[in-house]
Amino acid sequence: MNVHEYQAKELLAKFGVGIPAGIPALTVEEAVAAAKQLPGPLYVVKAQIHAGGRGKGKFKELGPDAKGGVRLAKSVEEVEDFAKEMLGNTLVTVQTGEAGKQVNRLYVTDGVDIAREYYLSMVVDRATGRVAMIVSTEGGMDIEEVAHSTPEKIATIVIDPAQGFMPHHGRAVAAALKLSGDLAKQAATIAKQLFTAFNALDCDMLEINPLVETKDGNLLVLDTKMSFDSNALYRHPDVVALRDETEEDPAEIEASKYDLAYIKLDGNIGCMVNGAGLAMATMDIIKLNGEFPANFLDVGGGATTEKVTAAFKIILRDPAVKGILVNIFGGIMKCDIIADGIVAAAKEVNLQVPLVVRLEGTNVQQGKDILANSGLAIVPANDLGDAAQKIVAEVRKVS
Ligand code: ADP
Ligand code: MG
Repeated sequence: MNVHEYQAKELLAKFGVGIPAGIPALTVEEAVAAAKQLPGPLYVVKAQIHAGGRGKGKFKELGPDAKGGVRLAKSVEEVEDFAKEMLGNTLVTVQTGEAGKQVNRLYVTDGVDIAREYYLSMVVDRATGRVAMIVSTEGGMDIEEVAHSTPEKIATIVIDPAQGFMPHHGRAVAAALKLSGDLAKQAATIAKQLFTAFNALDCDMLEINPLVETKDGNLLVLDTKMSFDSNALYRHPDVVALRDETEEDPAEIEASKYDLAYIKLDGNIGCMVNGAGLAMATMDIIKLNGEFPANFLDVGGGATTEKVTAAFKIILRDPAVKGILVNIFGGIMKCDIIADGIVAAAKEVNLQVPLVVRLEGTNVQQGKDILANSGLAIVPANDLGDAAQKIVAEVRKVS
């Protein structure tokens, strides 16, 4: 799960991290009121979307010469003008894709006198099972480009979560940023605060770009992106409350309501599978047979009628789907129960695309009989290879 920049900053501020003063706004009036509460005379109006690269982005409606989604305003009147330009319009950045994202929220913040911009991020490094803190003197720009052309300018500091953030980690961060004296101390402090926040909030990614040194010698977080481990969200109702569903794919929101793991892909064969490993294998074998999966979908252990119905509906929202492959192993849930669910769900959604079903496991014969006697045009399959060949043949017939 992702949150907006202003939400991430408010979370970080609770851990003592320095941020510029700022107030979120949903309307032009709120943006003006926000600016009036800030000291001025410089303000920055920032589009709040779940994507980076806003500064260099372009608004679809405003033409090629218009400025992007991060604007420096020199008066309250300018804040008002920029809010009018941004709200309701569509911002296209390197991270949004061509469709862009509609700007529904702004963040009005203090303009900061920047001396230098740095980069600092943290991710869970699965290879080492530790937290990797990635720092660079080259902040404010495209870090992928820095990594590509000048990898020596990026330092990675690995922190063992059992040991925690030690003073030597702080010194390593300061050294990588080429800071000394008081700024080095500040860098060590802020790195420790960020690490503490990262752990306490169960983040899986935290990126500060840029971390800035102000002309009067302070380190501040100027921009941040934060995402959370969805398996740990149950521990953080305050974080869940920050969810902005307008930023998410409607099909994925619907899927999460039924506890289905769904990810849309670009192919034409909808997949309904139980277990992530089996889902991956199913996708692989579809590709091996020359077609592409339209989605990843794991219905989980309890493939109930309700869940299977929801899954069919979610798969069928995608107009690219030309056929569906159901591949379910009846272990905890027996095959006859699953077959009943598939038949009921197919009838309820009035399924019009070819459906190939492969069942295996407990009571498999009863399950197959239920499918065969359902009166529906379900194509039965005996194993994974057979299932993939049959669904590929079916979608090629219709397309
Ligand atoms: P994005 O990464 O989405 O483009 P940022 O918040 O990083 O958005 O803003 C882009 C650039 O705008 C920053 O690198 C910084 O130079 C400038 N900027 C952002 N916020 C402020 C601010 N409060 N004061 C001064 N400059 C800012
Ligand atoms: Mg940024």
